Amino acid sequence: MSQMQCPKCQGSLEAVVYADVEVDRCTNCKGIWFDSLEAETLKKIKGSESIDIGDSETGNKFDTIGDINCPKCKTKMTKMVDIKQTHIWYEKCPVCYGIWFDAGEFKDFKEEGLADIFKDIFTGQRY
Ligand SMILES: [Zn+2]
Ligand SMILES: [Zn+2]
Repeated sequence: MSQMQCPKCQGSLEAVVYADVEVDRCTNCKGIWFDSLEAETLKKIKGSESIDIGDSETGNKFDTIGDINCPKCKTKMTKMVDIKQTHIWYEKCPVCYGIWFDAGEFKDFKEEGLADIFKDIFTGQRY
């Protein structure tokens, strides 16, 4: 795969592997890109929140940037909100189903409970 750029700060994304699942994390703002299946897989894996190394203060700053293009296929991403934890905003690509979490958001999201997480991803949408 060719090198992808961070959709929020234009930093470069580096591959991070946890339990054989590879995600892409921004070397600058520490936001994380998940391919659709990566997110599904990783959320079920204990300890996977350790990939989310950024501090949420930085994440909050970048969270206000909502209009971004998918780093993979360049489609305009859809702004989503987690219905159970409405403070968590993230972006999802309507074409390749990739998901962008700002620093601290994956950790936060995962704490909510494993059973509901996957469902929330596909039902929560913010406007
Ligand atoms: Zn970044
Ligand atoms: Zn995409």
